[in-house]
Amino acid sequence: MKTALVLGAGGFIGGHLVKRLKSEGFWVRGVDLKLHEYAETEADDFVVADLRDSHVVRNVVDRRFDEVYQLAADMGGAGYIFTGEHDADIMHNSATINLNVADACHKRTIKQVFYSSSACMYPAYNQEDPDNPNCAEHSAYPAAPDSEYGWEKLFSERLFLAYNRNYGMRNRVARYHNIFGPEGTWQGGKEKAPAAVCRKIALAASNDTIDIWGDGLQTRSFLFVDECVEGTTRLLRSDFEGPVNIGSNEMVTINQLVHMVADIAGKSIEMNHIPGPTGVRGRNSDNQLIQERLGWAPSQTLRAGMERTYAWVEQQVRRNAA
Ligand code: NAD
Repeated sequence: MKTALVLGAGGFIGGHLVKRLKSEGFWVRGVDLKLHEYAETEADDFVVADLRDSHVVRNVVDRRFDEVYQLAADMGGAGYIFTGEHDADIMHNSATINLNVADACHKRTIKQVFYSSSACMYPAYNQEDPDNPNCAEHSAYPAAPDSEYGWEKLFSERLFLAYNRNYGMRNRVARYHNIFGPEGTWQGGKEKAPAAVCRKIALAASNDTIDIWGDGLQTRSFLFVDECVEGTTRLLRSDFEGPVNIGSNEMVTINQLVHMVADIAGKSIEMNHIPGPTGVRGRNSDNQLIQERLGWAPSQTLRAGMERTYAWVEQQVRRNAA
């Protein structure tokens, strides 16, 4: 039986990845600081532990796993990573986890670790025009991410690739672009735009006004979590090390996203644009490289994913109110 290790298995993408690996017949160990909040884990073994501790990491990397996915990070949406208030924690916690994981996997002669970097590592100067952001993989340098979260991601993707060059590992690096879907954080300050918009609209009555950070003209693309998991497993099992974007190239403004969710909910919603952390002006996934190297790119529409996500968030809101 093949074995897989999912670090960050108590989180949003990690939870979905565990389900996928189980459906493929893997024996799966998940590790996280916490149990999954919204679903019982399907992992065969789930270790609640702190991956900042190198002894812990050596203990959970106790065999030559066939597949290792390193998703654990101190992260959140714009309200967490762009305010500057959590910068030291974000950099220290995530870099420590990555240093520990790369080294423990190397010592265990594990050949390939998947590492989830982020589109936040792209230079801010290429993302000032909301209609024409440049997020091609080769545009990463000269580096100028707009957040410490992005700088840490850049450091850690280089770390995993340095282990490839110096120790003959074959680690894989993907740059995720705004992943969304059911069973992700939807309240509490770490949620991201799609879940936050769904929550605000689920709580609103028709003709209510909801607050939106910024003028809503900033652009983004959002990738449904099932496609993220598909791209992740495909990359790990390919002969391409990356870095490569895993994201959607269906770019929308935040205002368009709000209109779409209001339409799904069947409500008429007004927007009140207020000051708040918004990140770069424009961002879209460039999928040319993934298409070329993996012969695959995400294709599901934003609308289809938002319908499933809204239904789930609305259910959470109702449950909370009961
Ligand atoms: P998430 O916050 O839901 O999951 C991350 C998990 O890591 C959490 O469950 C958290 O408890 C765990 N963790 C944090 N510190 C830990 C520690 N010291 N020890 C053990 N576990 C620890 O986030 P996610 O959306 O599932 O993201 C997974 C990965 O993908 C992260 O590395 C993130 O930076 C990256 N990423 C995500 C997105 C996105 O839109 N979701 C975009 C770009 C990159």
